[in-house]
Amino acid sequence: MQLSFHNSLTRTREPFRPIDPAHVRMYVCGPTVYDLAHLGNARPVVVFDVLARLLRRVFPHVTYARNITDVDDKINARARESGKTIAEVTAQTAADFHADMAALNNLPPDIEPRATDHIPQMIVLCKKLIASGHAYAAEGHVLFAVASFADYGRLSGRNQDELLAGARIDVAPYKRAPGDFVLWKPSDATLPGWESPWGRGRPGWHIECSAMAWEHLGETFDIHGGGADLLFPHHENEVAQSRCAHGTAGMASIWMHNGMLTVDGEKMSKSLGNFFILRDVLARGPWVGEAFRLLLLRTHYRSALDYTETALAEARAELDDFYAMLARPAPEGEALPGMVDWVLEPLGDDLNTPLALARLRDLRTLENVANVGGSAAAVHARTPAPWSPAPGVARAAVLEAAAVLGLLWHDPAAWRQGGGDTAAIEAAIASRLAARAAKDWAEADRIRAALTTQGIVLEDGAGTTSWRRA
Ligand SMILES: [Zn+2]
Repeated sequence: MQLSFHNSLTRTREPFRPIDPAHVRMYVCGPTVYDLAHLGNARPVVVFDVLARLLRRVFPHVTYARNITDVDDKINARARESGKTIAEVTAQTAADFHADMAALNNLPPDIEPRATDHIPQMIVLCKKLIASGHAYAAEGHVLFAVASFADYGRLSGRNQDELLAGARIDVAPYKRAPGDFVLWKPSDATLPGWESPWGRGRPGWHIECSAMAWEHLGETFDIHGGGADLLFPHHENEVAQSRCAHGTAGMASIWMHNGMLTVDGEKMSKSLGNFFILRDVLARGPWVGEAFRLLLLRTHYRSALDYTETALAEARAELDDFYAMLARPAPEGEALPGMVDWVLEPLGDDLNTPLALARLRDLRTLENVANVGGSAAAVHARTPAPWSPAPGVARAAVLEAAAVLGLLWHDPAAWRQGGGDTAAIEAAIASRLAARAAKDWAEADRIRAALTTQGIVLEDGAGTTSWRRA
């Protein structure tokens, strides 16, 4: 499969050619662990989870690193407010993040480096940058001298003169230029700190990612990802640090950025009352994790994405259709040659998930036609061959392709029953079957009617009854 991706660095679609085709390396900026993930935090995790799954299908060996930023002033502030230790805040928040991302069926990255485990590497980078004239120490700080790097601004498309000319109020007195950014800063006794040649201190955020990417992926690697909000200054500063420290012509070959998530057309904000913690949304039911993942993938990753209740309900309805197909008895099948690749091909075209999902729906239609009849002419107009598979065949292809998107992981019967406590429903159905066996039709009908008012639909088969939520 040919892969090409939009590169933020060159602003063009480029064929993906790994530095080492035997080992593809990708770095994605992970969470700063001070608070529960909100809806927008899930988007890069899902987008780059799909990309990692795709790369693993195409290449023999992939290393996907996503860091945890566990030293940051936001963490220090949260610990002070909550009366917890910094270690308690970061351990709890990282565990919450893992649980929430698993609820969206994201696989863990291959490596999850933590910033506090890489302080020596950060100090080495600072020393190298000072030695090469790209950084300077002042008043316990180490600062990157933006003027020393001619390519500063290239990734984010900002003109360095404009950046430097930008009048700023309250420029710290130890800075040579307003745009110079912090690599290292002093810590007083109340703050986390490590001994360094510049006194006890702690790293700036940007140097953390340069150090972790270097340690685990090398001086240069294939893909660097993150949200578009990280392009400037975070990624611009990462590139400056890494290129100047290592003397390389680039950091990552391809930079990929996902678009932002809005809620009801507005930027999420606590003051607008449209700020959603992911965990609160997930608590609505066991179906939400998959419906939200599908909602995210229905929009191309580079586009802005608007979260609405309607969009979540639409995603759930689409999954209901897939699970209705999967719940139908059908023989074990094997996908026809080309079926799975046809669905996945758009992912190689800058991760076009909307088109891959449309093709997945077409295979679902083929399975439905094979099982219950109808016309496949409309689908055949789009497929590379007039596939008319036997029952179970298109279904096998749907499941294999969906796994690359990280979808359709629920048990079909459990999905249709909506999860939750089903014991009372099962007991009522057993009573109704007993009433029917005793030819007590009035009692059997009474139980069915009672279940109907609870939104439970019974489907009688030969000697058994299955059920689903309406
Ligand atoms: Zn980063």
